[in-house]
Amino acid sequence: MVEDLETSLFLEYARRRIAFEYDNEEMGELAVKILRTLSERNEAVSDETLALVLGISATEIRRILHVMHKAGLVGLARESTDQYRYEYKWFVNKDFIRRFLVQHVNKVTSKLMHRINALSTTTLYICPTCFRSYTLDETYEYDFRCPRDDTELVQADVSSEITFLTNVIKNLRREEKE
Ligand SMILES: [Zn+2]
Repeated sequence: MVEDLETSLFLEYARRRIAFEYDNEEMGELAVKILRTLSERNEAVSDETLALVLGISATEIRRILHVMHKAGLVGLARESTDQYRYEYKWFVNKDFIRRFLVQHVNKVTSKLMHRINALSTTTLYICPTCFRSYTLDETYEYDFRCPRDDTELVQADVSSEITFLTNVIKNLRREEKE
């Protein structure tokens, strides 16, 4: 089955996030396996069914599902089985993936905006020999010379980094609209 771009982006993000969360690449692969199964089925599935389909213990599936749910990577739905009882089921569908990606793009964008603000309000000096950067205070303290190699410090060109970050934001916003 060929995945669309949004689904592949989502699964790739989930793989890295869960591998990071557990500090274990295999858990990242397992996360992708679970999310791909849910996305292909395109309906809410109980953890017992998932465990059967994937041949993994229900306990292990439940544990990783909760971690993924906390990270917003999987939806949880409550379905009533009869008048008094209900069952929890897990889902991932196109709408869910799209909402997740939009939220993710917004989060990344706001981080970049903070970085731009920080850059535009600070003056940095850089050593052309070792490429260490120094704040204005440090630069005065070291009398405009690098304490490591005595090279004269030059003011960093933050405007090019600001332009770069601004373009990244523009691209993210464009992807979000498409
Ligand atoms: Zn230096």
